[in-house]
Amino acid sequence: MTRHSDYTDLMGHIRTVMALGQASGLLGWDQETMMPKGAAGQRSEVLAELEGVLHGKRTDPRIGEWLAALDGGDPDPVAAANLRHIRREYDRATRTPAALAKEIARARSVAQGIWAEARAADDFAAFAPSLQTVLDLRRQEAACLADGGDLYDAMLSDYEPGMTGARLEEILFPLRDGLVSLRDRILGADDQVPNIAGHFPEAQQMALAADLATAFGYDWTRGRIDKAVHPFSSGSGNDARITTRVDEADPFNCLYSTIHEVGHACYEQGISPDHLLTPLGQGVSMGVHESQSRLYENQLGRSEAFCGWLYDQMRVRFGDFGIDSPREFYRAVNAVRRGYIRTEADEVQYNLHVLLRFELERALISGSLEVADLEEAWNSAFLRDFGYPVDRASNGVLQDVHWSVGLFGYFPTYSLGNLYAGCLHAALCQETPDLDTALAKGQPSPATRWLHDKVQVHGGLYEPAELIETAAGQSISEAPLLSYLDAKFTDLYNL
Ligand code: ZN
Repeated sequence: MTRHSDYTDLMGHIRTVMALGQASGLLGWDQETMMPKGAAGQRSEVLAELEGVLHGKRTDPRIGEWLAALDGGDPDPVAAANLRHIRREYDRATRTPAALAKEIARARSVAQGIWAEARAADDFAAFAPSLQTVLDLRRQEAACLADGGDLYDAMLSDYEPGMTGARLEEILFPLRDGLVSLRDRILGADDQVPNIAGHFPEAQQMALAADLATAFGYDWTRGRIDKAVHPFSSGSGNDARITTRVDEADPFNCLYSTIHEVGHACYEQGISPDHLLTPLGQGVSMGVHESQSRLYENQLGRSEAFCGWLYDQMRVRFGDFGIDSPREFYRAVNAVRRGYIRTEADEVQYNLHVLLRFELERALISGSLEVADLEEAWNSAFLRDFGYPVDRASNGVLQDVHWSVGLFGYFPTYSLGNLYAGCLHAALCQETPDLDTALAKGQPSPATRWLHDKVQVHGGLYEPAELIETAAGQSISEAPLLSYLDAKFTDLYNL
């Protein structure tokens, strides 16, 4: 058998895995958007069966044989990247004992239910034993994957291949002081920003959201928008869907969630069709994904130029909503206020919320923090970073679902995405001098084209850090993000 036919056979097998993965993702999308309530039990059985089939295919010993036969060859860059992804996935799938994987799946679904009840009751103690179980199991799994190395790094590699906890500390922790001091200057400023006020009917919000999606380059022939409780994007290639939500008192919720998810979906739609249904045919990491969505949402969507255009659109659709000028509208869109909740945080404070979670979960995984002490540790870190105490557990340690379902190593990819976005935006501005003129006409296309060519089209061809550093023309650091935020909010609040 020749190497060429080994590679062809391997890729044929992987194509089946990718296709079944798409089917599973589509059923998951349906569950959150369309599925009749009574179908829940049946659906989870269908998904579990499909997962079983997928697991069998992902751990098929022939993958190991094909990889061994291809080892030491001299593949072209696309084949080399495919093999890198396949090797990583196969390694991961075969190192975790099936019984442990099953136990984790069961513990997660139990813990998620208990977390929801504990959050409603503001009772961390009721959740702690379930969290302990999930944490112990995930640590066991990480030990299987880490091969004697760092457990947190093993968890992180699921979301951000090539990244380590130590490197993250190096690039994320320097954000804290800069962000705290900027936030304190803002909240201490005399010049606070106005609120928008009025009733914003759902139909008009959804129509404007659709216009925004079009403006940002979303391809409607290969996507659609539906409503869901928590906005998300799913799918890839020629079927990249998004969801949004509507609050009739707060249109920014719908509009900016939509732009954010459009950023994710445009990344998937923008990947070269050559990579369709191969390991390269999807976003390369959570951090790179978030860099696209955050850049669309914040650096573009919340820019002064684009807000000027959006203000006119809003006036046409909603009439008077208590804001007199594009400048005041821009300030309302970017308001910085006190708050406990990560998902509602502004650009300045968002990363402070993430850093706190990163710090605590690192300590949980390393064993230097016990689950029993987690609530107290959260509350004291929050007081340190935000300057006021947490009032109840649902506004503190119980607010996010992630830990209940064992997602350790996931939070820092949000901030990493912001850091990447900062680096990319700096290069984008330099190479696209007419950007503001286009944004002021409601046309982000010079930016989205640049991102498509530099980042999106490549899919999984390059490792995340290499991809961003090549696109941005500089090594990854917190500096561009901090200087962007400093300039923007110094002007916004007349500091
Ligand atoms: Zn996102």
